[in-house]
Amino acid sequence: MTAFQGLGVVLALLTATASASGPDFSFEARHDHFLGSCKGKLVFSAGGAQFEGPKHRLSWDYRNIQSLDILSDRQIEIISYESRSWQVGRDKRFRFDLPPESLTKDFFDLVRVRIGRPIRTRYLFPSTVYRAQLAVRHRHRLGGCQGSLKIAEDRIIFESEEALHSRIWFYRDIQTMALTDPFQFRLSTPLETHTFDLKEPLVESLYRFIWQKVYRPE
Ligand SMILES: [Zn+2]
Ligand SMILES: [Zn+2]
Repeated sequence: MTAFQGLGVVLALLTATASASGPDFSFEARHDHFLGSCKGKLVFSAGGAQFEGPKHRLSWDYRNIQSLDILSDRQIEIISYESRSWQVGRDKRFRFDLPPESLTKDFFDLVRVRIGRPIRTRYLFPSTVYRAQLAVRHRHRLGGCQGSLKIAEDRIIFESEEALHSRIWFYRDIQTMALTDPFQFRLSTPLETHTFDLKEPLVESLYRFIWQKVYRPE
């Protein structure tokens, strides 16, 4: 065995250990159909997610999951690249209702690592301390919602007073950010773009901190 082959084996072992580590998350789930629903078990394990119902079974490798949309601590959508279920037709979004408080910080932390792509969460899992907070209005096509932006070490949290408008963005998932004028801040991820009216100025040192995290991560 050459040194190069040896390294390959070590890397393969490390990868296998990393993806296999961590618990399975298993939930009693109601799968929403276009009409009606079915009940079954939804499991997120090391290799992927699967749903086992009385009439059908769905399964996705993590690489076939385009994203997740976490709507609350008890509602989740799996957005897949393609459907594998004849019954559900061409739907690419699979929505599941779970018992209250099913989706925990541990679930969020592990599953986003396993998926390895930005996921959307409208539920604010308990977070780290943050260094600054700004009162903002999130601009909608018509009007907007009120909330605050919390700037933390690894993420920006938007806490909205409107259901489903809160978000957690990790700096590494943010593609662009801009302060278009002293009171207007915009950020985009591969999933969406948000524009905020700032009710208080974003001081330069804080702007530079965010810029650094987005464009010059260590
Ligand atoms: Zn179903
Ligand atoms: Zn909003």
